[in-house]
Amino acid sequence: MIDTHVHLYDSAFDPDRDQVVERAKKAGITHCILPAIDKSTYGAMQECLETYPGFCYKASGLHPTSVNADYNLELGFAYSKMTDAVAIGEIGLDFYRSREYTGEQISAFEQQLEWARDLDLPVIIHSRSAFPELLASLKKCAFPGMRGVLHAWSGSREVFDQAGRYGDFFMGIGGVVTLKNARLGEIVRKTGLDRIVLETDAPWLTPVPYRGKRNESSYLSYIAQKIALLKDISPDQVIGQTTENALSLFFGK
Ligand SMILES: [Zn+2]
Repeated sequence: MIDTHVHLYDSAFDPDRDQVVERAKKAGITHCILPAIDKSTYGAMQECLETYPGFCYKASGLHPTSVNADYNLELGFAYSKMTDAVAIGEIGLDFYRSREYTGEQISAFEQQLEWARDLDLPVIIHSRSAFPELLASLKKCAFPGMRGVLHAWSGSREVFDQAGRYGDFFMGIGGVVTLKNARLGEIVRKTGLDRIVLETDAPWLTPVPYRGKRNESSYLSYIAQKIALLKDISPDQVIGQTTENALSLFFGK
């Protein structure tokens, strides 16, 4: 399995990061993609990359909730860290708590989509309470070869399909699918496995049965199991296809 979205460098893992990685490997995780948030995350991320080579892979980018009046400085920094990145992320639009920097968020997002074109990299997109704007930016910046993950998908199937007109996008499914959330369950049930990748977003978005505790990559199997249940297929089928999807998206395999 590939955890396509985990903040392993977060301080929540400082006390026992080695054990967390050991448990993940034992649970069958072979690769982890570590998305950046802003400047403050790169030091700890670099340490993870060096400590767990061949297991942790880097994404570089500026998270929408870290976009403010100084976003150009942050963008320059994210771009300078693009060496060895397997993706640009996480990037996107988030107007859930505030619309204060709407214009700045859109500019930063579109700038990073242009990098994806220039560097031929997939994108990891965070999108919350911003679906019309998301589609507008994707449409504006679309290019042949645009591809990525719509991470922690919380939109409708219709919006997901519309995004698919502009690029080759996968739906990032994590712990939220294990909750009693009929709407997401229905979306996952109706979405082809060839469009889904697994992610934890650890240390956040913990799946059942560990709600209320810190999330970690080894719990990815609970997400695979829930998807299998929803689709009435075996967990091995879910794991096989989603791993293939992630390998092709991030590693060109
Ligand atoms: Zn994240």
